[in-house]
Amino acid sequence: MPIRPIVITGNPVLHTRAQEVTEFNQELRDLVSDMFETMDEAPGVGLAAPQVGVGLRVFVYDWDAEDGTPQRGVVINPTLELSETPTGEADWESESEGCLSVPGERFPLRRAERAVLQGVDLEQNPVHIEAEGWFARIFQHEFDHLDGTLYVDRLAEPHKSDVAGIIKERGWGVPDQSWLPGQDKLEG
Ligand code: ZN
Repeated sequence: MPIRPIVITGNPVLHTRAQEVTEFNQELRDLVSDMFETMDEAPGVGLAAPQVGVGLRVFVYDWDAEDGTPQRGVVINPTLELSETPTGEADWESESEGCLSVPGERFPLRRAERAVLQGVDLEQNPVHIEAEGWFARIFQHEFDHLDGTLYVDRLAEPHKSDVAGIIKERGWGVPDQSWLPGQDKLEG
């Protein structure tokens, strides 16, 4: 099953800390391959395993850096080091992010400007990426997924209340909602 359904906020897998990967087997390779396809079809710039209902510490990303360099990869069992998160109000124009598990919505959130991502790839080779700006934001967003945190959990008021209203209105916030990229017309 190449493209997998993306689970929506309310599914416990999105709100639970994911487990370390211990077996680098065919099942893991299939998962990662399906995650790339699902991310591309959605489309999204990142996708974490819990978003396809798998509670493992894995995410994929696909982002063209400001200088045009394509950045596409997978990281398994990552750690993330961050510069300080700026205080103050987040800007709608430049700091709004979305999530495929809260589809169709965007809200502004402050994030650290710099991030150092480390982990391993499918061959257990080390991954070490120093990211800035939006690329660093993607890492923070995806890494949060592995700890059971959605970006909407981090929102300040009034955005926090607004998103709670939307989740209720759409019938989300329950365990069994999902959408299928390429079939259901939603975007993150
Ligand atoms: Zn997300």
